[in-house]
Amino acid sequence: MITAPSTARPEMDADEEAALLDSIDRWVQKEVRPVVMHHDHDDIWPAELVAQMADMGLFGATISADYGGLGLPATTYAKIVAHISSYWMAITGIFNSHLIMAAAVERFGTQDQKREWLPKFASGDIRGGLALTEPNAGTDLQAIRMTAVRDGDDYVINGTKTWISNGIEGSCFALLVKTDPKASPRYKGMSLMIAPKGPGFTTGQKFEKLGYKGIDSAELLFEDYRIPAANLIGGIEGQGFFQATGGLELGRINVAARGVGLAEGSLRLATEYAQLRETMGKKIADHQAIQLYLGEMVTRARAARLLTFDAAAAYDRGERCDMEAGMAKYFASEAAVKNSETALRIHGGYGYSKEYEIERYYRDSILMCIGEGTNEMQRMIVAKQWLKANPI
Ligand SMILES: Cc1cc2nc3c(=O)[nH]c(=O)nc-3n(C[C@H](O)[C@H](O)[C@H](O)COP(=O)(O)OP(=O)(O)OC[C@H]3O[C@@H](n4cnc5c(N)ncnc54)[C@H](O)[C@@H]3O)c2cc1C
Repeated sequence: MITAPSTARPEMDADEEAALLDSIDRWVQKEVRPVVMHHDHDDIWPAELVAQMADMGLFGATISADYGGLGLPATTYAKIVAHISSYWMAITGIFNSHLIMAAAVERFGTQDQKREWLPKFASGDIRGGLALTEPNAGTDLQAIRMTAVRDGDDYVINGTKTWISNGIEGSCFALLVKTDPKASPRYKGMSLMIAPKGPGFTTGQKFEKLGYKGIDSAELLFEDYRIPAANLIGGIEGQGFFQATGGLELGRINVAARGVGLAEGSLRLATEYAQLRETMGKKIADHQAIQLYLGEMVTRARAARLLTFDAAAAYDRGERCDMEAGMAKYFASEAAVKNSETALRIHGGYGYSKEYEIERYYRDSILMCIGEGTNEMQRMIVAKQWLKANPI
């Protein structure tokens, strides 16, 4: 049984955290809000915002200061993600997926790997993501077919990954492969590699999506792609499934924080609109039907926030938190879907127009129910942990 290194990290000083969140808010108001509609509608990768995010240190947000990162605890990081997501969720994916790759190296990598890769990840000089999913294997990760065959001091990799965030703009990925395709159980034959782009590693088309615009999702194609054996994370074969799913706890807290942002942002838009629009001689906010909607939305957003920060705090204490992260991810993503739909209804016909922002929240929210483990799986993870803790 492999034990995961602790994720414990001290809370940030309250004044320092407030100053950091204030600087993020100023950036969002000044740089993000004016461009979001254009970038979302035309599906444009936001090069200028990415450079600004690198300057602010966001590509090293959760990487420890020893390697040039900000070393933020998950609680502070989740507050940043929730706030940015309340204005434009998709851009958080550009650094979230990258930081999951970095977390795999920081938690499970060798000292040499940490020294070599983490400073470049933290500065944003090398950006990337996590490449697990294949055309035939999403939820059932152990069904992946990508192989890595040892050849002298190298591995030779063949296969296809799909739906990979930052696939086109990113240059390096934590890549889940089979080093022993015949292993039983299947997870024992899986390994995680640090895979920078190079000969044999090409990118397919950028996918057209319902939402989550501005960030590139793509196929990654590997044909006799060769990397040094030193890129095997942790240096020992057979630990990749555990390393990849170990990183998903932080990934799920991130997705939950995005859900919180979408739920709160939808509430903000609905609250404003309900006090501007009038029917039957009064503001629609004064109609009981709209108040019932708002009451539900406020409650859902608050509950999502509390569950998410409960999970993040457990992560920062270094505790096992797959149940807490699962509950937060499930509830906050469903809250995002419900709040964005309700806010759209409150906007009436205008909610269906691209001139108003709420339609973006509606399109973006449903992804939160799918990514980092579907909500069907989250409920099963929660139930299994619950039953284990409550035997008769
Ligand atoms: C925009 C976007 C970005 C993404 N980014 C990344 C990325 O950066 N890296 C990456 O690796 N992947 C990424 N993904 C892939 C994503 O993680 C998968 O889509 C997800 O894990 C689901 O896998 P699947 O699509 O193959 O669905 P399937 O696994 O085929 O599931 C289909 C349905 O069956 C349900 N289901 C499956 N198995 C079970 C079971 N055992 N019990 C109950 N229900 C079950 C699922 O919950 C779902 O409802 C991304 C996907 C999208 C849409």
